[in-house]
Amino acid sequence: MATALDIAKRNPNAAPLAVSDAARAAGQTALSIEKTAEMSVAAGAAPGGASLIGLTRDQLKDSLAAIGVPERELKMRVAQLWHWIYLRGARDFSEMTNVGKELRAKLAAAYTLARPQVVSEQVSKDGTRKWLIRMPSTGPLDKGAEIECVYIPEVDRGTLCVSSQVGCTLTCSFCHTGTQRLVRNLTSAEIVAQLIVARDAIGDWPDATPPEGAFVPTDGGRFVSNIVFMGMGEPLYNTDNVIAAIGVMSDNEGLGLSRRRITVSTSGVVPQMERLGAEANTMLAISLHAVRDELRDVLVPINRKYDIKQLLDACRAYPGLSNARRITFEYVMLKGVNDSDADARELVRLLKGIPAKINLIPFNPWPGSKYECSDWERIERFSEIVFRAGYASPVRTPRGRDILAACGQLKSETEKLRARARMMAEQGIGAEGVYAVGNGE
Ligand code: SAH
Ligand code: SF4
Repeated sequence: MATALDIAKRNPNAAPLAVSDAARAAGQTALSIEKTAEMSVAAGAAPGGASLIGLTRDQLKDSLAAIGVPERELKMRVAQLWHWIYLRGARDFSEMTNVGKELRAKLAAAYTLARPQVVSEQVSKDGTRKWLIRMPSTGPLDKGAEIECVYIPEVDRGTLCVSSQVGCTLTCSFCHTGTQRLVRNLTSAEIVAQLIVARDAIGDWPDATPPEGAFVPTDGGRFVSNIVFMGMGEPLYNTDNVIAAIGVMSDNEGLGLSRRRITVSTSGVVPQMERLGAEANTMLAISLHAVRDELRDVLVPINRKYDIKQLLDACRAYPGLSNARRITFEYVMLKGVNDSDADARELVRLLKGIPAKINLIPFNPWPGSKYECSDWERIERFSEIVFRAGYASPVRTPRGRDILAACGQLKSETEKLRARARMMAEQGIGAEGVYAVGNGE
């Protein structure tokens, strides 16, 4: 009989995952690894159906064909729309001066260039910005999925941390998002829309300017130069949409982000890793967090499905891996749990032969969390051991702590709402609050 584990093994891209009653009765460990989703929307659907924002070339083509644009014109029209939407940041069809008046009128009658709604924007003292974004409703019972997206500006780069799911099916014991149900996968358009919203907000379009006093990179480069999939959700449980979104974000005739400046972070969905490398060709980050299976089984429960050995073998086989394209291993520092000298030495031993960077993340506590962050001296000592073994081991500076404080409050608001109208609302708040990472590019 198929259990959630079996289903996931056959098709690990198929979140939401259902746990069968039989598995439940048998007390399968699947229950504590994955939760079921409340709802789903069709893969690749546009947010709200009628907005063209975030669509792939193929989706744009279909949208144009649907309003009667003849087949022979489609390629040219897609190129025009692509230019206006993704290179110029157009908000209205009337801006599209090289598109005939008649077609502009047709477009405006059938579609919009509406962005998802920014419910709130918080700006940290250090310039980090966090947006709570509400996606358009996908049906009568859906109030609109809410996700967080964070912008971390530095002098020489601007990193956008995007979400791939609303909530997460996985249950990592130190992660705030892990305590939420998975509401649903985001569509590729909804993932791309986070970049559009960010570029709108920080004035990152040809004729735009940043808001008064905003902190943006000053090196003359793009304000959003890097993307990390480190917001809510497990990107490799939504691989189709994540790969499609990366295709739009990195298209040279539009948003034009280098794939080497896009990092996908996974908790270790081993069967999807090779595909990500082969099809999206992005940088990879692995949420390792423990060097022994017994501990990783608890911290990152997907380890019970794909253990450390399988995970590191998949890393060794990651397409395009080289010293110039290293894998980032994320390691959250949990006091008395995974932060000993022996852990550091074992970490170095395990990663031998893998071109790697090790990113030590001070644990970010949240209401109800059962862990504490390691002391600063311990983190330094750990970092020193890793560094002496020849690995870059930056400690990730928590950014935007002052605005992240609101994250826990926000989540509890959502929980209250859920209790009242559990099946009605699509809600999901509270990326776990660790955002400040780049990939060294
Ligand atoms: N689901 C993916 C990507 C999102 S999580 C993954 O797990 O990799 C992004 C990173 O933040 C992961 O390394 C995750 O383990 C880490 N993280 C989650 N909760 C955290 C917390 N409370 N403190 C510090 N890091 C955390
Ligand atoms: Fe999901 Fe990543 Fe949080 Fe684990 S760490 S629960 S995979 S978002």
